[in-house]
Amino acid sequence: MSDQNVRELIIVGGGPAGYTAALYAARADLEPLVIEGFQWGGQLMITSDVENYPGYADGVMGPEMMADFRRQAERFGAEFITDDVTKVDFSEQPLRVWVGSDEYQARAVIVATGASARWLGIESEEQHKGRGVSACATCDAAFFREKDVYVVGGGDSAFEEALFLTKFASRVHLVHRRDEFRASKIMVDRAEQNEKLDFVLSAVVEEIVGDVKVEALRLRSTADERTWEVPADGLFVAIGHDPNTALFVDQLDHDENGYLVTKSGSTETNIPGVFAVGDVQDHTYRQAITAAGTGCMGALDAERFLATFEGHPGTALAANR
Ligand code: NAP
Repeated sequence: MSDQNVRELIIVGGGPAGYTAALYAARADLEPLVIEGFQWGGQLMITSDVENYPGYADGVMGPEMMADFRRQAERFGAEFITDDVTKVDFSEQPLRVWVGSDEYQARAVIVATGASARWLGIESEEQHKGRGVSACATCDAAFFREKDVYVVGGGDSAFEEALFLTKFASRVHLVHRRDEFRASKIMVDRAEQNEKLDFVLSAVVEEIVGDVKVEALRLRSTADERTWEVPADGLFVAIGHDPNTALFVDQLDHDENGYLVTKSGSTETNIPGVFAVGDVQDHTYRQAITAAGTGCMGALDAERFLATFEGHPGTALAANR
């Protein structure tokens, strides 16, 4: 591949972080190529109404918001490939990225592949996702005012979701597969003191019952395999998230859970020219607005890197424009 085919910037991932990076980079004339994934849009594509993204005063559907983000980046010249990256090689410049047998090269790469909520993996969950089954209480709790809801999980996320839900729901039940929690003691104490919350221990959700909406759950005891049904209006699955970093972990520094590690106050990874933004490097906040914020940071960091990168053809390209 000749140097003329080396782009300035490739962005891997098409969620709030990737599209915001694309918008800023496109406006900075970096002509970014966004390899947005076959299922572009990220986690917001499985969210219904988004009411907490500033600027959408009347709320917006998650997929519609992602289409807006994408269109805004496109308006300034971002290019898109709606497919998955299958391989990367960041061992030397130019950085190399593959989609199947097609190879792309760039001086800078922004990784924005996000994280995926873990799901129970049962068929009825798939059927009710976004319609009574959610993996994000911050996003969806307000739709369960005065309702009877269940949360699955025994870690800090499940407790955080359950406690948040008690502000809206009339009753919150936390179902955990063991009789001991993984969550921190302070969270458990807080939950135990909350009158709206109770625990169903040593149990798993085996089936979500209901045609159009969630009507009940079938639970199964992990102690004696007994099954029983409980009425329910909603189910929140909070059994953890996995960062989408399988392609990168052998080249980029990451923590023990696979989240990419960036330098404090920046989006720089351990490889010069490679930046990480959004949920792929953030397991704490995980909001569209924070992902978009770090996407902006990534584009600014990449721009700064490219401006100081001596002898790369992008500089000449930029000079000739
Ligand atoms: P986590 O700590 O890995 O907990 C996941 C929970 O889900 C575990 O209790 C696990 O059960 C359960 N689980 C996993 N797969 C399951 C399945 N298929 N069916 C039923 N249950 C299943 O994940 P997390 O709660 O998302 O927390 C991730 C990290 O973020 C942790 O380090 C946590 O401390 C941190 N965090 C902190 C805060 C805070 O401090 N405010 C809030 C949220 C998260 P087992 O226990 O049996 O394995």
